[in-house]
Amino acid sequence: MESKKSWLQAYIPQKPSDYVAFLFMIVMLWVIALFELFVVLPLYHEPFSSWWCLHVFCGFFLWLNVFANFFFLITTDTTGKNLGMPSVLKPGWTYCPFCQLNAPPRAHHCQVCNECVLKRDHHCIFAGKCVGFWNYRYYMFLALYLWLGAFYANAFHHEYVTSEIGSFSVATVLTMVTPILMWMLGYTTLYGFFISFMTGLSIFAFILFSGMLFFQIRIISRGQTSYERKKKKKEYDLGWKQNFLDVFGEKWYLAWIWPTVSSPLPGDGTNYKKTYFQESKDL
Ligand SMILES: [Zn+2]
Ligand SMILES: [Zn+2]
Repeated sequence: MESKKSWLQAYIPQKPSDYVAFLFMIVMLWVIALFELFVVLPLYHEPFSSWWCLHVFCGFFLWLNVFANFFFLITTDTTGKNLGMPSVLKPGWTYCPFCQLNAPPRAHHCQVCNECVLKRDHHCIFAGKCVGFWNYRYYMFLALYLWLGAFYANAFHHEYVTSEIGSFSVATVLTMVTPILMWMLGYTTLYGFFISFMTGLSIFAFILFSGMLFFQIRIISRGQTSYERKKKKKEYDLGWKQNFLDVFGEKWYLAWIWPTVSSPLPGDGTNYKKTYFQESKDL
């Protein structure tokens, strides 16, 4: 049964590990942006010069898109509750004992979100929310902008960071990997710890999002969700072009600009064309 949730309960992660990941991400996005804007940028370019303005514009574009896609990832209803689920179990559908509803093909129940998510991919701990049919686009653009942002930050502050903590060596790598330990052992100052932590984090984020994007683009091109890949199911592969349209919508070439740019998805998340007819196998 649907329980009444307050606005905050509905959008802020309730599971402690999700809440910590969510908070960490929000805080670090602010810290890194402020560091680049107020510490690094003025050292390279005169405030309000053309280069300064260009970097501010690019940085803000990435940063705002991260927050906007994150917001839509969290606040989009990923269930089909508003569609009204049929009371009769149709072929390929399953009954969810938790929601006490019939759920369409590719929908799965999430124990954390406590709801059935249409075309469920996975539960994202940073958002404290499942990624599915209605918010897949926001998740992908969030990952893309985080990846671009991490690359930009690394390339941008590289010169400044190496001048502060030294160029590539065992000591600098150790400082980035274990900044707290190196600070406690007296190998670096508190400011060195701060810079090393942020640099290590942005390098880690770049590697993490490279892997994530590679994995997601690969399964999207095959018409699979993470769940279906794990189960080795490949029943909805309509060719890579259509598979991408199923995630990014028909205006995919504009959807990347901003999350509110309309890009309608084919279908309502309850019906899917199969690669081949095998309806009886679903039962
Ligand atoms: Zn359910
Ligand atoms: Zn979930």
